[in-house]
Amino acid sequence: MTAPALHTRPLFDELPYQHTFTARVLAVSDQGVALDQTLFYPTGGGQPGDQGHFLLPDGSAVAVTGTQRDPLLRSIIWHQLEDGSRAELHAGMELQGCLDWERRYRHMRMHTCLHLLCAIVDAPVTGCSIAVDKGRLDFDLPESTLDKDRITQSLKELVDGALDVNVRTLSADEYRGLPGLCRTQVPPPQQGDGTLRVIDIPGVDLQPCGGTHVRNTAEVGAVTCDKIEKKSRHNRRVTLRFS
Ligand SMILES: [Zn+2]
Repeated sequence: MTAPALHTRPLFDELPYQHTFTARVLAVSDQGVALDQTLFYPTGGGQPGDQGHFLLPDGSAVAVTGTQRDPLLRSIIWHQLEDGSRAELHAGMELQGCLDWERRYRHMRMHTCLHLLCAIVDAPVTGCSIAVDKGRLDFDLPESTLDKDRITQSLKELVDGALDVNVRTLSADEYRGLPGLCRTQVPPPQQGDGTLRVIDIPGVDLQPCGGTHVRNTAEVGAVTCDKIEKKSRHNRRVTLRFS
């Protein structure tokens, strides 16, 4: 008998608003627990890995403290558990996964807001970081032309505009036909079939992204531009905070 190929179906791509799911344990290792499918978003693109808990068949709960993709086999997602609880799980076990939804939803709101910031600041993005209460982008921008109040006001207009946030799939050919699409300086992540997942806020921002987003910019809520820092000669760091 050949071992089944390890692959975690990323439910968070299709169902970013779902909080709970059922899954089967594929493997338990030093890296954590791999499931056949998961709603837990793995650390990536500046967005932290999800936390939450698993409900086991005996009714007990174990805390999930983090989620990471396997560094080599990228299709596998590992869930890190609190110390000592890994022994309670084994391959083949069915369990229920429950997200810390409040935390994840704040990540979705801030992540979407950073797409809006990207549209406001016309410069290449060199870094991104998202947290529960704040988020930041680094821009390759030699001159300091940015103003905190102006950024806060521009963000407010885009949030108040209640714009749709669409997820689309582009073929490699469609992507090549859109010069300047990618704002980051690294090549965009391709999906297994060579297509690109792009986030489209019509008329505002269109770029490849694998993160989780809200459906409408109104959900971002009130956000303030908190800081603009000069990190190096070419690097301006813009930090946003939920108001
Ligand atoms: Zn995104």
